[in-house]
Amino acid sequence: MEFDDDIDERSFDSESIDIDAVRRIIFDLLQAVGEDPEREGLKNTPDRVARMYTELLSGYNVEPEKIINGALFTINYDEMVLVRDIEFYSLCEHHMLPFIGRAHVAYLPAGTVIGLSKIPRIVDMYARRLQVQERMTRQIADLLQTTVQPHGVAVVVEAMHLCSMMRGVKKHDARMTTSAMHGSFRANLATRQEFLEMISRPRVSFL
Ligand SMILES: [Zn+2]
Repeated sequence: MEFDDDIDERSFDSESIDIDAVRRIIFDLLQAVGEDPEREGLKNTPDRVARMYTELLSGYNVEPEKIINGALFTINYDEMVLVRDIEFYSLCEHHMLPFIGRAHVAYLPAGTVIGLSKIPRIVDMYARRLQVQERMTRQIADLLQTTVQPHGVAVVVEAMHLCSMMRGVKKHDARMTTSAMHGSFRANLATRQEFLEMISRPRVSFL
């Protein structure tokens, strides 16, 4: 079943980042760590980093209404809708290092469904901020619950945290799974189990 719609990349343009200020700060940072910001390889680094942040942190400016607008459909369908393995890239707010992984999002419609492409957009909106994984998981679930108003929402996020991997902490601590459940996924064990089974199955590949 397909409830798709257009993807509007424009809603991810970032205007709130002060690019000049970031440039200056990265220049100072390079100096502060003992580097020469004027040397060949680093000459354009402050500019590159500043532009990079406009993309990596573009999720602050996105209005959820803009993502969801026009993408809610009334439909007589009450089986679980699942979008799994949504790849995301975020930055942990403690170290500003990446955590990367996959989100699995499911809901049980109560007369309304949301365009399929919107769910990865919602994940992206929250990922492109300084985050902690637990909050990001909760935010995705909360937004779907309040906008789609389904019988329930389930979100599981699995991620690898570079701040753990790169800093000599035990490697198995680098992988983390978080979940947020609303409504029937929280109340009904069978529903929750169906969801967890579906996301643990091997992925189907079409090519
Ligand atoms: Zn961290």
